Amino acid sequence: MNNSRRHFLAHSAAGLSLLGGFSSFAQASLGKAQILVIGGGFGGATAAKYLRLFSNNTANVILIEPNASFLSCPMSNFVVAGMRTMADITSPYEGLTKHHGIKLIRDSVSAIDPDKKTVKLSSGSVLSYDKVVLSPGISLMMNSIEGLAKANQAGVTLQAWKAGPETLMLYKQLAAMRDGGVFAISIPEAPYRCPPGPYERASLVANYLKQHKPKSKVLILDANQDITSKGALFKKAWAEQYSGLIEYFPSHNVAGVDAKTKTLRFEVQDDVRADVLNVLPAMSAGEIAIKTGLANANGRWVNVDFLNFEATAAKDIHVLGDAIQTAPLMPKSGHMANQHAKVAAAAIIAQLNDWPINPAPVVNNTCYSFVNEHAAVHVASVHQYDAQAKTFKSVPGAGGLSSESSNTEASYAWGWAHNIWADTLA
Ligand SMILES: Cc1cc2nc3c(=O)[nH]c(=O)nc-3n(C[C@H](O)[C@H](O)[C@H](O)COP(=O)(O)OP(=O)(O)OC[C@H]3O[C@@H](n4cnc5c(N)ncnc54)[C@H](O)[C@@H]3O)c2cc1C
Repeated sequence: MNNSRRHFLAHSAAGLSLLGGFSSFAQASLGKAQILVIGGGFGGATAAKYLRLFSNNTANVILIEPNASFLSCPMSNFVVAGMRTMADITSPYEGLTKHHGIKLIRDSVSAIDPDKKTVKLSSGSVLSYDKVVLSPGISLMMNSIEGLAKANQAGVTLQAWKAGPETLMLYKQLAAMRDGGVFAISIPEAPYRCPPGPYERASLVANYLKQHKPKSKVLILDANQDITSKGALFKKAWAEQYSGLIEYFPSHNVAGVDAKTKTLRFEVQDDVRADVLNVLPAMSAGEIAIKTGLANANGRWVNVDFLNFEATAAKDIHVLGDAIQTAPLMPKSGHMANQHAKVAAAAIIAQLNDWPINPAPVVNNTCYSFVNEHAAVHVASVHQYDAQAKTFKSVPGAGGLSSESSNTEASYAWGWAHNIWADTLA
């Protein structure tokens, strides 16, 4: 093995952050290949950037994304609770074009043809590819709850689970709610995007209500049997800080919505009426992945080869982030999507150079949740590829969980957010 190959393999596990020493790296096949990255969220934007970095800026990378700017779901609960603005969670894509030479097409992909190796854009253009990186995020399965699609269209219920206009609309509904009103958030059965996200949202909304409308209530209607992440930490914070304000109901699976009366119907329990309804339905891989026939895990998620994140249903389409059927104990998080992107980018560059890919990638996850405006908790984990099981397995003893919430962790959480935004986009 020559030096540059050895160097590449040594660094191609995710989490690597420096990329020097690839000067003899560019090969003719790599320079000619066209790599289309679909979706400029945590997975796609990171992949586009690292494909350029890992190839010493020789790979031909085009990023296709309909949004003008990157909108972050992490920290969006602060916008819902009126403590930050949309500008605080919005970043430009400029760094990717200016610093990394990535071509950006502002459009969405309407179809992928894995046989012809072409991608069709909504504007009608057709692009051919050698490799696709697809990170389309989630689809919300509005039809899984009777009446939800209509209620959401009318703005009677909101999801705000994709950062964007609904994030701000949800805050406006909360701000307009009377003191003594009820804010209800419903959580679908796992797996869904960001396991602790709904509990963080409930905490920050309660924080807002405690200050501005203390007679109000937050109801958490959870289809799961218990809190899916950081359960003891959330329960402790709620008991200490929001006693009588937050009420948690496990095993409450929403079956229907009555938009006229703002009432949720459950499979078993009594109906619940609320003033502000934040209904999170079941989720699946982003629509384009399903439409392309990649979602071969229960028709919802995309199975991938974890060594290079290639979809098992289609060659040369590498799928990242929330859209995949994750390995056991691997959360659907932005941090994890960023890690997938680095493993996939390293493998794609190796493949295009006809080099062996890293046979033992390691990825990690860190996830902070705020329990009030100034205090947060974290959970961290490390996941190692297991060649026999062909999946990532969490490494026993690695990672950890906060013993309690603290202001220090809150400052780490903001540090994490600014760092990952920079790692993804700058
Ligand atoms: C309230 C909340 C809080 C969260 N907090 C955290 C946190 O603290 N830490 C953390 O790590 N994670 C957090 N997450 C989870 C995180 O946001 C997701 O896991 C992450 O965004 C997944 O990245 P992705 O690339 O799979 O999808 P996204 O980041 O959603 O990116 C998908 C992109 O694809 C684009 N797209 C979709 N379809 C097409 C198409 N057909 N053509 C072109 N483009 C397309 C979309 O416009 C979008 O930009 C949170 C989520 C929520 C909702």
